[in-house]
Amino acid sequence: MLSEFELIARYFDRPTRHTVLGIGDDAALLAVTPGYELVSSTDVMVEGAHFFPAVEPDSLGHKALAINLSDLAAMGATPKWAMLALTIPKADEAWLEGFARGFFALAAEHDVDLIGGDTARGPRNICVQIMGEIPQGRALRRDGAKVGDDVWVSGHVGDAAAAVAHLKGDLRLRGSLLAHCLARLDRPAPRVALGRMLVGVANSAIDISDGLVADLGHICERSGVGAAIEFAVIPCSAELMPLRGHAQVTRAILSGGDDYELCFTAVAGRRSAIEALSGQAGLALTRIGRIVAGNEVVVVGQAGKPMSVKDGGFDHFR
Ligand code: ADP
Ligand code: MG
Repeated sequence: MLSEFELIARYFDRPTRHTVLGIGDDAALLAVTPGYELVSSTDVMVEGAHFFPAVEPDSLGHKALAINLSDLAAMGATPKWAMLALTIPKADEAWLEGFARGFFALAAEHDVDLIGGDTARGPRNICVQIMGEIPQGRALRRDGAKVGDDVWVSGHVGDAAAAVAHLKGDLRLRGSLLAHCLARLDRPAPRVALGRMLVGVANSAIDISDGLVADLGHICERSGVGAAIEFAVIPCSAELMPLRGHAQVTRAILSGGDDYELCFTAVAGRRSAIEALSGQAGLALTRIGRIVAGNEVVVVGQAGKPMSVKDGGFDHFR
């Protein structure tokens, strides 16, 4: 059986590219670029709550970092450093090897250094802290939405939550549709490049982790505004399109989390700039509604009638 220190050395101590002092001392040392702010976020993943026990370790390594990268994407920041606090029931080398493979493949894609962490025995629990940089005062925040802004969403939403509904037995998906939805759940692609492009273009942004309506609601709450969005124009994948009217799929599109797309607002004068960014990012960007006065997110359905969204989004304590 590996010791704690052998485990860290074998699976997590990798060369860094832009770090003064990484793994091996009591703390890491980072040099922040002058004129920039340090941006930091952390996310915990608990077996049973955030992932099913059978998930491939490679996917878990990918996802643990991806959901943190997504938070920095939503700020418009450039990710640079990550820390990993891990509790695992035993030093299972096949699991560690897969987990590290998924984690470091995505870290390399985004030029992120793993600079430290902590390792202990316990129920499987993965906590990543991400740090990055943004020029002073330029971050995309939740509190910048203005009445009259367009509301935009990147990519498409609902696939990941449809996969969760399938795994829970609430929805039956098959064949290539199931494979597509599971891939979106297990290996989300954080929209880091898009977030950076939106700096100076968007007024506010958030990443969709709890559900579109809930997360747009967070923008509204922080900005002191409301929003009106139209169900018919919310983009869902071609794969999911035939099931769009199914109650579980409608729910996945409006309230399902785990998509890690960006929802952002921008003045109408930015429409052509944003359409150009869509080409640059190779990612659909869709206008789904407007920011309005008030404090609610209203979803407009068939014949202009408001739809009731019973569960705004995922909440661990409700
Ligand atoms: P300390 O006792 O000071 O907390 P540790 O013995 O826990 O230090 O860790 C030794 C070194 O290994 C530290 O640099 C720490 O940041 C790093 N480390 C521990 N666990 C991990 C991990 N899972 N991933 C990356 N680095 C880790
Ligand atoms: Mg420690």
